[in-house]
Amino acid sequence: MFEGLAKRIQNVFAPFGSKGLLKQEDIDQFLKDLRWLLIEADVSLPVVNELVERLREKLKPQTGIVSPQDYLLKTVYEELTALLGSYRPLKVNPRGISLYVLAGLQGSGKTTTAAKLGYFLKRNGKSVVLGAADPYRPAGAEQLRVLASENGLYFESFVENGKVDIAKIQSFMKKSLHDVLILDTAGRLHVETDMLQELSMINKQLNPQEVLLVVDAMLGQEAANIAKSFKEAAPVSGVILAKADGDELGGAALSVAYVSGVPILFMGTGEHIRDFEPFDPNETAAMILG
Ligand code: GDP
Repeated sequence: MFEGLAKRIQNVFAPFGSKGLLKQEDIDQFLKDLRWLLIEADVSLPVVNELVERLREKLKPQTGIVSPQDYLLKTVYEELTALLGSYRPLKVNPRGISLYVLAGLQGSGKTTTAAKLGYFLKRNGKSVVLGAADPYRPAGAEQLRVLASENGLYFESFVENGKVDIAKIQSFMKKSLHDVLILDTAGRLHVETDMLQELSMINKQLNPQEVLLVVDAMLGQEAANIAKSFKEAAPVSGVILAKADGDELGGAALSVAYVSGVPILFMGTGEHIRDFEPFDPNETAAMILG
């Protein structure tokens, strides 16, 4: 993951390997090269500007340091980590079943991600139910049912007469002895008002612990714009970056949290059910910097 970006970034750091001196003009050149590289990697412009400005403030000319490259690497690492946000675990309902609502555009990887998240939580000792709540795509419910049965998760459909049956979800949650319910809600091809309204309504009536937005990392910085649109209209609390294995330039990973103001909590790293992990900004920054 992020190999493309890591390779290019190494080239920007390379000239500073053996110099014992770091002049202001070296720093200026370094920042200029870094800026271009990030723009080419499809990182969102406000993110590029913010990172470069923060670095410009922090980086100072140095005389007689052992490795200017290490100095630059350490400083970029710190600022990159800060920009990626901080990891937090999912909120848990202390009084009963925890509800995690998954939203996202069609094809983003939402249904697969619902199963991956369920499987991840199951491996952490939780009893997990996958709930179908997409009235527009019956095939999606069937896909979710199959994924549940293949991976030892429970399944429940909450679609009745072409609608999400909120009362059924409420009564299920009241009676349930399971730990987690993951709801796979309706997606659309584009960000559309009715989809966002439905999400807001589900949120108001069910008061979930998390509303998690699944975005396709292969869209690069467009993933960040999608996250921003969702966040402006619905109470998204975290992002899951699906298909991060296809984001080899890191455009989405670097842009989403800063542009949308929502932290990335997990990422999908392949098509297999186990290809899913918590998003760790330190590890991601280390990966990007090689
Ligand atoms: P939905 O329409 O948003 O529910 O999307 P699906 O869950 O059906 O996924 C769409 C496609 O993306 C499927 O072919 C998945 O196998 C694929 N997919 C989902 N997550 C990942 C991932 O993390 N990496 C890769 N490479 N493919 C993924």
